[in-house]
Parts: sequence; C-alpha cells; structure tokens
Amino acid sequence: MNNPFQTLTVKSTHFFLIDLPDGRLLLDAGWELEAFAAQMKASKASFTDIRYVMFTHTHPDHAGLVQEIKQRSGARLIIHEVQIPYLKDLRAFSERKGWTQPIELSSTDLVSPNRRDLEQIGLHGELVETPGHSPDSISLALDNGAAFTGDLTSPLFADEETGAVIAASWQALLDRGATTFYPSHTPPVPAEIIRSQLKSSQM
Ligand SMILES: [Zn+2]
Repeated sequence: MNNPFQTLTVKSTHFFLIDLPDGRLLLDAGWELEAFAAQMKASKASFTDIRYVMFTHTHPDHAGLVQEIKQRSGARLIIHEVQIPYLKDLRAFSERKGWTQPIELSSTDLVSPNRRDLEQIGLHGELVETPGHSPDSISLALDNGAAFTGDLTSPLFADEETGAVIAASWQALLDRGATTFYPSHTPPVPAEIIRSQLKSSQM
C-alpha cells in the first residue's frame, strides 16, 4: 500500500519519481533536457523505468519535457481533463521557443483516472484538482500522506481574489489525509504548518 519516491532537483525545481510495482511514475518534467538527464543520471534513475508521466500544470517548467519523456521511455501520460484545454498554451510556448515539444495525447494515455484506475497500475492515491496558482493545477495525493502540490500558492501569499480558491485546494488535500506537502520549488511542508497558515489567513 505504499509508493516510495525519489526527489530529483534541477536548479531549485523538484521532480518526483514515484515507485510502482512495475516501473515508475515521473511527476513533472521541466524544460531543460540536458540538466534533467544529468540529474537522472546522478540519481541513478533511468528513463526506461518511467512507465507513466504526469504534470501538475501546463507551465513549461513543469510540463516542458513531458512529450520528450513519453518518446524516450514509451511512458503513458496521466492527465486530468481540466488540463487538456491548456495544452494549447504549451504548444504556443513550444512554437515560440522551439526547445520543447508539444504534448500529444495517445489512445493509451490515462485521462482523469479515478482511484480504481490508479490502483490498477499500483499507485495508491488520487488526483485532486487544486486550482489557485493556475486553473489547470492538480495535485497527486498518495495514501501514504505525501501530496505533490506543484505551484499551489501558500495560504500566506493568497490575495483577496484567490484566497478562497487556494484555501479550498489545500483543504481538499488535508481532507484526504495529506501529512506532508511536496511543492515544486520549496522544501517539503508538514500539514500542521499549512493548517496554521490557513487559520491565520482566515483571521
Ligand atoms: Zn507554474
């Protein structure tokens, strides 16, 4: 019932390799292939072990290399349906910059898999919609208490406009029993910290 994971850090951005019974799931893949590949090598991780890839949101520093990973490893994409309309933004970025590839959906990809679907690939947890930083942001909440939150804004930095949405996103993860949050650009945050931040932001 557990999915251990490994953190890869490239220039202060964290990516996560989550163990499955048969291979690994890569959560987020930045935009610098060389640096990413070097970090994979340094961590003794191999592209061919990646059987699934997902991203927390379509910003290029999270989703830039997803198509490359799909091609290199034959990984299946795990995507939430709310993310699909935003793939065009990533495509526009690729066309402008020319150094990432647009994400192409394949028939074998998993679109909005539910708990049961994830269970079938040996992933114990669920995808949770956590808007706030962007409307297409999702988190992966594992049953072992780890929740990967991408760029979900800290309750401390929420403004009046976004405060309620951000608070609801954190609450959804807390309600699922998250004990430690793994943001993409900061060290892990224990659930108690977020609870107290939510309280103080509501005062
Ligand atoms: Zn972002």
